[in-house]
Amino acid sequence: MTAVAFVVFCVAVLVAGRGLASGAMGEVMRVRFGGDAERTRVVVDLDRTSRGQVIQSGDDGRVVLALSGVQPPRGMSGQGLGLVRGYRVAGSGAAARVELDLASSAEIERRFILPPGDGVTHYRYVVDLKATGRAPTARPADRRAAPRPVERPLVVIDAGHGGRDPGARGAHVNESEITLAAALALKQELERSGRYRVRLIRDSNVYVDLYRRVAIARQADADLFISLHADAGADPATRGASVYTLSEQGAGRAVREFTRGDNWHRNLNLPGRDASVDRILLDMTQRATQNRSAVLARTLLTELEGSNHPMLRRSHRDAGLAVLLAPDVPAVLLEMGFITNPEDERLLNDARQRRRLMRAVAEGIDRYFEAPNGVVQMADSGAAGRP
Ligand SMILES: [Zn+2]
Repeated sequence: MTAVAFVVFCVAVLVAGRGLASGAMGEVMRVRFGGDAERTRVVVDLDRTSRGQVIQSGDDGRVVLALSGVQPPRGMSGQGLGLVRGYRVAGSGAAARVELDLASSAEIERRFILPPGDGVTHYRYVVDLKATGRAPTARPADRRAAPRPVERPLVVIDAGHGGRDPGARGAHVNESEITLAAALALKQELERSGRYRVRLIRDSNVYVDLYRRVAIARQADADLFISLHADAGADPATRGASVYTLSEQGAGRAVREFTRGDNWHRNLNLPGRDASVDRILLDMTQRATQNRSAVLARTLLTELEGSNHPMLRRSHRDAGLAVLLAPDVPAVLLEMGFITNPEDERLLNDARQRRRLMRAVAEGIDRYFEAPNGVVQMADSGAAGRP
């Protein structure tokens, strides 16, 4: 970077009310993202109103905003979504500095502040980013300006069934035992690389409600959710692994479930001022998540096939499975094989074979995260055009 290229065009978006007038400093509560690689919405939750100023508008791969009257929090940073690779909130004095590390070339389309309303009790500073379609500009090397490395992705592993729900029964073992053993093996594989944070939905033989599993993943801000299962079939000859992602129907169900009742804005962390805007945002999030889930399913299938693991013929399927319902966490369900097939059961019940399988899964996850920008392919960014 040459000099300090401060492009400052200040648009005061000050909403009258509490906050600046009182002289007290506000606080950044959290930073959230919605949308996809075409349009990304950044929402900064504030406990008071603020005046925003653009410090950098995206030309060098970063968008930097100063929010006046807001206390910089201690070490707030994390992964972004869509156009934003990661974010960091820092600052000094009387302003918080929100730094967005762009995943690809983008510009600010609009920004505004939403006052409390519609059941949301705090202010939200909203920045809408739009892809410019230009080749991303490499950020000049500058140690001082280098953002802190973003947090490692969080992978949540869900061992299917457990406790009073043993799942499918094989001749020698229950599904719930195999899924737990596989989850532990996958955790080990993923942690070995040092690239991920890993969380297990269960690490013992306990029952966890399906919706609770989804809630855990969402609350933990998971970057990826993988649910491990073993299939059962009437025909003992049927064998092979398959990967499920959420179907359009399942997605519709997610929308209905999450938009039911009064609290769904909060449940989904959407701005929550105008129901139709939220609907569009939800739709964008949903589609981006579905796209990414499908990409994950493909990378998993490729790795599993490459490892010569037996596969079902049509091994990528869409389903409306409750455990895949989180609209903002890419999720897949892996049926590792048929517990009702003697060979598959033997394979899944063998620690060495299981580790081999989980290594292939870990590789699939590696491939998925290696292409963070290529994963979201939107057919059309005009979300409003979709019913
Ligand atoms: Zn199952």
